[in-house]
Amino acid sequence: MKQLAILGSTGSIGTQTLDVVRQHPDLYQVYAICAHRSIDKLVEQAKEFSPEVVCIADESLYEELGRQLSAVGFEGKIWAGADAIAQMVTMPSIDVVVAAMVGYAGLRPTMESIKAGKTIALANKETLVVAGELMCRLAMEHHAPILPVDSEHSAIFQSLVGEDGNEIEKILLTASGGPFRTFSHEQMEHVTAADALKHPNWEMGAKITIDSASMMNKGFEVIEAKWLFGVPVEKIEVLVHPQSIVHSAVQFADGAIKAQLGAPDMRLPIQYALSFPERLASDFPRADLFALGQLTFEQPDLKRFPNLGLAYEATRRGGNIPCVLNAANEVANLAFREGRCSFLRMSDIIAETMTQAAFIATPTYEDYVATDVAARRIAEELVISNKK
Ligand code: MG
Repeated sequence: MKQLAILGSTGSIGTQTLDVVRQHPDLYQVYAICAHRSIDKLVEQAKEFSPEVVCIADESLYEELGRQLSAVGFEGKIWAGADAIAQMVTMPSIDVVVAAMVGYAGLRPTMESIKAGKTIALANKETLVVAGELMCRLAMEHHAPILPVDSEHSAIFQSLVGEDGNEIEKILLTASGGPFRTFSHEQMEHVTAADALKHPNWEMGAKITIDSASMMNKGFEVIEAKWLFGVPVEKIEVLVHPQSIVHSAVQFADGAIKAQLGAPDMRLPIQYALSFPERLASDFPRADLFALGQLTFEQPDLKRFPNLGLAYEATRRGGNIPCVLNAANEVANLAFREGRCSFLRMSDIIAETMTQAAFIATPTYEDYVATDVAARRIAEELVISNKK
């Protein structure tokens, strides 16, 4: 039995992880669950899975959570706050930490999980965007395997099984292109958060769905792939593949390309991260290649989607700049969802924040924390200074 800690258990990845656990109750047990603010869902989950620990990130909800949990007869530990989460992940019984919190908030608990030598099932790509170098160094030092949950990286990881030592010539990272793939620049000037939240293929949380529409998600995934697979970004190529069936591929030195294909369903990469190196039987939907008929691939348009170029630029500049990229994006993404900034302005805010932020070549953890605060302040001022 593997004991799981699920950070972000009420989110899209968290609930789908619990779905995988439901299908394999003989293999996985939920030891700890943690959510940001969604008390009702968290209580439901505690009732169903009886974890040892239930944790809420927002400390102001601690008493309310306690009341609701005791009303359903929960007898485990109830914790709250960032320090509690950081402590929770180090508990000796935990084998795998599913890191599925949204954004920068995932950095500290993921780092503590790595330091405690846990296996990390990583869905929180922002952790590697912000501090990839530090995370990879710690993972080596503490022998903590980082297994990708992100569907593209799971596909790359699956393509690399059995290829130990064989040189990667190129990573082919696929992107659906999002809801605005075929929109003109003029059309994109007027899109709303509601338009952007209609993703054609994947069911995801709000933040990542907007990142997907702006292609910042793909930019982040380029950086994530660089750290996970030790491949320079020059060797990572993004292909727009609107059907989302080829989840990504690897091209080797002999020209062979290996890919992983399947229906777009996050439960498959989640389950693979938990069961690796085994494959478990599932009743997840199958990709019907006859029904699809054809699979197509296009170049991404960096003019309409400048975020992708900004991500390459951030990682080439290195140091704390990817951390700046992430912080500015979190501010711009939220401002767009709240109607405080237009879709196209998001990229301008991120680019300008990257220009204004102070550069640190070899940041420590504390430098990342300070960079995040400073970059958010710059980005927030830019949002306020130009409301359109
Ligand atoms: Mg992805």
